[in-house]
Amino acid sequence: MIVRAGILYDGTLDPPKRGVELVVEGAFVKEIRAAQEGAAYDRAAACVTPGLVNAHAHLEASGEPDMMQMVATTTCNQRMLRAVENARKSLAAGITTIRDIGSSNAIAPDLRDAIAAGRILGPRMRAAGAVLCMTGGHGWPIGREVDSPDEARKAVREQMKIGADCIKLIATGGVMTKGAVPGNAQLTYDELYAAIDEAHRHGLRVAAHAIGTQGIKNALRAGIDSIEHGHMLDNEAIELFKERGARLVPTLAAPTCILEHLEEGRQPQYVVEKAKYVNEAMLRNIKRAYEAGVTIAGGSDAGTPYNYHENYAYEVELMHRLLGMTPQQALHAATHVAAALVGLHRGVLGPGEPADLLLLGKDIHEDLRVLRRPDAVMKDGVWI
Ligand SMILES: [Zn+2]
Repeated sequence: MIVRAGILYDGTLDPPKRGVELVVEGAFVKEIRAAQEGAAYDRAAACVTPGLVNAHAHLEASGEPDMMQMVATTTCNQRMLRAVENARKSLAAGITTIRDIGSSNAIAPDLRDAIAAGRILGPRMRAAGAVLCMTGGHGWPIGREVDSPDEARKAVREQMKIGADCIKLIATGGVMTKGAVPGNAQLTYDELYAAIDEAHRHGLRVAAHAIGTQGIKNALRAGIDSIEHGHMLDNEAIELFKERGARLVPTLAAPTCILEHLEEGRQPQYVVEKAKYVNEAMLRNIKRAYEAGVTIAGGSDAGTPYNYHENYAYEVELMHRLLGMTPQQALHAATHVAAALVGLHRGVLGPGEPADLLLLGKDIHEDLRVLRRPDAVMKDGVWI
């Protein structure tokens, strides 16, 4: 299979290549070479990029205005069916790799295995299983409650037992859970440390939901691999990020989508109030962190209100618009950087890399919105 590209962004920050063709053999890219005039090829596009990587998603949720009510009023089977549907939509929209960072009833690990076995269509996946939270803490309706370092260790082992291949910890309150204050620390440093130590010993990466300042620092000091949200970070947190090499997944689309849909009036008031507060902190702090050299990975929190799985390209646009990334830098964050965090492949196009790619009608540098509608999506060398 030979795919011609007017311009190719390979996921790195190297200058894009013009007038090239990718030779795909089986599931992998074999070669990238200059296109020969008059030679045969199979497909052509103005612009070719790697498939997108969403490092923060919840596939069983579909952007319902009241997420917790959805969890309370659906069965596990119904949510699994939605997860199957969202996996298919994600892939069709160009997301070829996804990390489900918190699910109920082992939905995400089971879904990951079904996709890997070729029984259903979806992105290649990592799956966290249940989030680990304090009793009554953020996410408890789909969480495993833990209240000591030993319980945290045991809960990590339980997630591994049901097939989790990464772990999610709740370090602060959050927006979607009633009563949880986003600024307050939740799991303690000792609980975070025990869970991270246990997971790392088995080779699993650990992500922390952390919005409040203290919880962000607790998680960074305890050795976390990524901070999810991170909206109330301060200068000391920025230094900790850089010192520890942790990544930040700012999920810009999550508060943005909530606040863009206030007029429908279908969201709980406590969600709206908290989202306004968190959004202000996000606009104040995340760009500052990026400019100070914190590594930003693409992840949208897809599944939260009005934040649809198939709209991940919006997160890429927001990284461009709100953080001042160039289109290529935003694409890099949503491919190579996110892939490095997820840990399944490098998220770049080059010899020997998985043939995950998007054909686009325009250069992303002219109009990043072209990512919303790829003309074609290839995963593992197969057109979707
Ligand atoms: Zn989330």
